[in-house]
Amino acid sequence: MRKALVERHPRDSFRLVTKMPLRDFKDEEDLERIFHEQLAHCGVEYFDYYLLHNMGTNVYEKCKKYHAFDFVAQKKAEGKIRQVGMSFHDTPELLDEILAQFGDKLDFVQLQINYVDWEQPNVQSRRCLEVARKYGKPVTVMEPCKGGTLVNLPQGAEALLRQARPQDSNAGWALRFAASQEGVTRVLSGMNSLEQVVDNCATFQNFEPVTAQDKAVIEKVRQIIEANTPIPCTGCAYCTHGCPKNIAIPQYFALYNSVSRTTGSFSSQNVYYNNISLKHGKASDCIGCGQCERACPQHLPIREHLKEVAVKFEAGASFPTRR
Ligand code: SF4
Ligand code: SF4
Repeated sequence: MRKALVERHPRDSFRLVTKMPLRDFKDEEDLERIFHEQLAHCGVEYFDYYLLHNMGTNVYEKCKKYHAFDFVAQKKAEGKIRQVGMSFHDTPELLDEILAQFGDKLDFVQLQINYVDWEQPNVQSRRCLEVARKYGKPVTVMEPCKGGTLVNLPQGAEALLRQARPQDSNAGWALRFAASQEGVTRVLSGMNSLEQVVDNCATFQNFEPVTAQDKAVIEKVRQIIEANTPIPCTGCAYCTHGCPKNIAIPQYFALYNSVSRTTGSFSSQNVYYNNISLKHGKASDCIGCGQCERACPQHLPIREHLKEVAVKFEAGASFPTRR
């Protein structure tokens, strides 16, 4: 960022965002150290937006103990942060508790909102959004395309979208759904090609909120996706850091989902599985320590899913296997 952006453009011509990794900091001194390193690495005096990252049950007590909310509020008072936010992956009840206690220190909340997670019990997009609205917090949306899941759709789902609005991309549908919700002020979408940037810009240039008719189509699409996605992993890879067996969890889950969506291509997925497992632990190597599940923002029962992966891809694997 420093080389590509900061050293080449006036500071007020772009907005820079980063976040405090709540899982990694140890104490108050560590908050300070990490923050100063971030400023120094980027070569800036301030961040436009700064988030307490991946807030949830597993880190909330630590944040209270080491005054993480006061820390970011203080940095804002010093002019080193323009707007303070929190990305959140937990229950609406916990969000309510946090905003009741620390809402005055937060300018916005970042939530996972997309049409598949809208009513999903492990994410509860709709209810979390309602809580943010209750406290008057503007919402930035993350995962509007659910890590690409809403772009690479099962055939039947894609056909429904084409039929309803032939000119719109799958991503366009997902972004319109997220941006149409009351209280949403910003939608973040990961992009890895110029084509995707152009497509996303087109969606927002002449923005059309989703209609009742669109919602009916989206609901049918959602049902098809759900029937074809046994493991709702977004591929964020938070679970892999610290896995004592270096298991390629998101890759294995993607292969498993892929096998479930297609017919006749099982052998190619098997080849992928074998190749990945040359450099990583196999699904059956899991020792059940649970580290990954504590880190998973989607609260997936990873250990259980790994058993299913092992049965599918490791011929003759009887779980659990110890090596
Ligand atoms: S439970 Fe299994 S997959 Fe998860 S961190 Fe432990 S060994 Fe790795
Ligand atoms: S299992 Fe959870 S933490 Fe791991 S990649 Fe999938 S969604 Fe992310």
